[in-house]
Amino acid sequence: RMETPFANELMTNFASEDNHAAFADALALVRAELGKEYPLHIAGHAVHTSDQIISINPAQTDEIVGKVSKASRELAEQAMNAALTAFESWKNTTVWERASCLMNAAALMRERKHYFSAWLVIESGKNWAEADADTAEAIDFMDYYAREMVKLAETNEHKPLVKLPGEDNRLSYIPLGVGIVIPPWNFPLAICAGMATASIVAGNTIILKPASTTPIIAYKFYELMVESGMPADVMQYLPGSGAEIGDYLTSHPKTRFVSFTGSKEIGLRINRLAAEQAPGQIWMKRVVAEMGGKDGIVVDETANIDAAADAIVASAFGFQGQKCSAGSRAIVVADVYDELVEKVKDRTSRLIMGSPEDNAAVGPVIDKSSFDKIMKAIEIGKSEARLLIGGNKGLEGGYFIEPTVFADAGPDDYLMQEEIFGPVLAIAKAESWQEAISMYNHTEFGLTGAYFSSDEERIQTALQDMHCGNLYINRKCTGALVGVHPFGGFNMSGTDSKAGGHDYMLLFTQAKLTSIKV
Ligand code: GLU
Repeated sequence: RMETPFANELMTNFASEDNHAAFADALALVRAELGKEYPLHIAGHAVHTSDQIISINPAQTDEIVGKVSKASRELAEQAMNAALTAFESWKNTTVWERASCLMNAAALMRERKHYFSAWLVIESGKNWAEADADTAEAIDFMDYYAREMVKLAETNEHKPLVKLPGEDNRLSYIPLGVGIVIPPWNFPLAICAGMATASIVAGNTIILKPASTTPIIAYKFYELMVESGMPADVMQYLPGSGAEIGDYLTSHPKTRFVSFTGSKEIGLRINRLAAEQAPGQIWMKRVVAEMGGKDGIVVDETANIDAAADAIVASAFGFQGQKCSAGSRAIVVADVYDELVEKVKDRTSRLIMGSPEDNAAVGPVIDKSSFDKIMKAIEIGKSEARLLIGGNKGLEGGYFIEPTVFADAGPDDYLMQEEIFGPVLAIAKAESWQEAISMYNHTEFGLTGAYFSSDEERIQTALQDMHCGNLYINRKCTGALVGVHPFGGFNMSGTDSKAGGHDYMLLFTQAKLTSIKV
């Protein structure tokens, strides 16, 4: 299986009646499982605690998706010891054994694709297409990292060292040790699976601390890995609060690396805590962090305005703008500004709000604190810019917010600088395409961006000057595909660790040179 070249998992066509029916069945299956209790797992043993994290359906907040046990510091310490013990044997397994666990998991997930997606719909509030893309990306990450790790293990064949007569020199990529893996809730399957499996296929053992709003989907992933042949002690499933166990594990002397995706604030905190040498610690911890974005789409007067409007609306409002790749800014050259603003307004007005289970275009945001933060940002926006559409809370019963567009935003406005992580788009006017590019760069982030133009020379300039990790021309700035668009950003967007790219495995390994005199 490993020999077949990697290919991206296809998206499901829900216009097909069969696929539609199969998805509805999966939702019913998941519905029948709602409200259950889940233990945490240390060294493969289930541990039930009285303290629990309650996962609720963001579209219907009186509905409990499930309850998971919640780790204390003492349990975190046990999890660390379990991961340390497991590392002593897991590090000696062959790369092929480890890669085959990932391939098995990818195959099983492909078989049960809609089941996983249905959990995403109910636990994270994704509509069908967004959930389907999340599951497809999880499958891709596992298939891709399995192959990438095998390639890395065969480095001496692919990229031989310079020959020196009388010596046999080889480079091998060995694991680091115990990693703390802290994935986000916005891609609760794809990014969770990607971060976890990249770590373990390299030979590391991990403590997986799932996001507190989406712990059930992470549990389903943990179970799948065990079913796929991963020894149960290689991954500890450890829900818990950041303040209680996140900081503790980040600061732990035996932690070798932390792999984190989430907000800038927490990423910086992890980086700071991990930089300190704890008593007994004999290495510099490695931090892999993917943080926020204030991504934008630049449109000049030569662009296809309809295509640009489509891309702006898709990038701003897909999964309610809760992507670090979300295009929360649009910067438009004056000549086409009014026309584009009208088109964006029109397209936004046609987005239907409703239940993710009914596959509505606009669903809820993840939780109460996100809801409050976004509503506050909208209030600030009203004082800075011109509210074009939206600006209110949406349907009752869940965390719904109207897709909101502000026009005439100024480059230094809150709306143009702060990551809101919700369905809020700010549009700004630029006098020229050059000014538009410099407004695009006027941010501390640098994750994704897009430039719409039909002018070849300007496109060349944009390619060079727009400073972000993922720059797209004449297309939306979300939806990076594994292997096709390695994903990660500059500046405060993180460590430019390209998930789904050739270099990603290097982050979870260290290179050992062996030289034998012959
Ligand atoms: N990779 C995703 C995309 O390209 C975004 C990931 C994220 O939001 O963390 O849309």
